Amino acid sequence: MNTFSHPIYLDCHATTPVDERVMAAMIPFFTQYFGNPASVGHQYGWEAEAAVQQAREQLAAAIAATPEEIIFTSGATEANNLAIKGVAEAYLDRGRHIVTVATEHNAVLDPCHYLRSLGFEITSLPVQPDGLINLADLENALRPDTILVSVMAANNEIGVLQPIAKIGSLCHQRGILFHTDAAQAIGKIPLDVNAMQIDLMSLTAHKIYGPKGIGALYVRRRDPRVQLAPQLHGGGHERGIRSGTLYTPQIVGFAAAVQLGIDERVAETARLIQLRDRLWQHLNQLDGIFLNGHATQRLAGNLNFSVEGVDGQALLLGLQPHVAVSSGSACTAAKVTPSHVLQAIGRSDALAYASLRFGIGRFNTKAEIDQVAEQAIATIKALRHSAIAF
Ligand SMILES: *Cc1c(COP(=O)(O)O)cnc(C)c1O
Repeated sequence: MNTFSHPIYLDCHATTPVDERVMAAMIPFFTQYFGNPASVGHQYGWEAEAAVQQAREQLAAAIAATPEEIIFTSGATEANNLAIKGVAEAYLDRGRHIVTVATEHNAVLDPCHYLRSLGFEITSLPVQPDGLINLADLENALRPDTILVSVMAANNEIGVLQPIAKIGSLCHQRGILFHTDAAQAIGKIPLDVNAMQIDLMSLTAHKIYGPKGIGALYVRRRDPRVQLAPQLHGGGHERGIRSGTLYTPQIVGFAAAVQLGIDERVAETARLIQLRDRLWQHLNQLDGIFLNGHATQRLAGNLNFSVEGVDGQALLLGLQPHVAVSSGSACTAAKVTPSHVLQAIGRSDALAYASLRFGIGRFNTKAEIDQVAEQAIATIKALRHSAIAF
């Protein structure tokens, strides 16, 4: 049992530890099979290239794609940038309108803001109080000059799962490209780019027990064949779409992590839901606790709630020695702002600040959940009873 020497880690939406099995798969590629996959003239290159190809096939199979449709990137941030800016640049003569959602990750919203500064028109759809978009809103937002719709598969704060297949269908009926940021979804929910009519999909390894610094963009090559303007120019790797020497160990680890996630998905999802519901049952004994996001259409390991009558910073500080979680505020550039996701679902600034995001993962135990619940309840009660709390 954790004796509080180190906080219990419950921040799996931020990142996850590398699974030992993933690590074991990666290690030979740092020292023994270290060749550059682009070195076609000798065995070191061939060995690395074979490993990359195998990983590419494994990743493609995981999402029902073909290996040629996988473009390796440094993570989901780069994949989102490549998808959004790459499509915008390639389809300039088709239109300059892009539709996205207010609750997207900044790695989607910021490229859109950037494009707006270049003269593109961006429609940012609102969400309902449960965090889901209204499909009628999406339909109404689509125009003849709409070139791209970008809607995430699973939200990184409130875990909400958007109706991806229905969105894909709406887009394809109108010949509009559909991009989804699936950084939080891969390995956790089934993803099939054909059944869901996805044209571009951003992935990353470090949210699913793989290494940081590696991800991919799925780019559809048939029906329709997606055009993409490269955003990194250089050696012409990844068929010219993304130059840069491929990171063999990370790519091998990425594929291993996704495979483990898929192999263990059904049992692990059931286990995480049990832990998540257990935590919520404990906490929900308190008054003035509000769940953020849809109660069931969400990631198994996600619990996000707001606490009435406490100061958000004090709450996080009180928990810090015992449990590593995130709050509903982002400390960017030394300025604390309430979460744009919680604002979008209609939470007041006070409730957005006084929120906690628990990301329960593969290595958390029932004992840890009970310990954390006890600590959170004690902290909330103490803050509420303290006249000088705020
Ligand atoms: C973590 C995350 C990202 C950023 O991924 P990186 O690989 O860290 O660049 C983008 N989108 C979502 C939804 C995320 O959760």
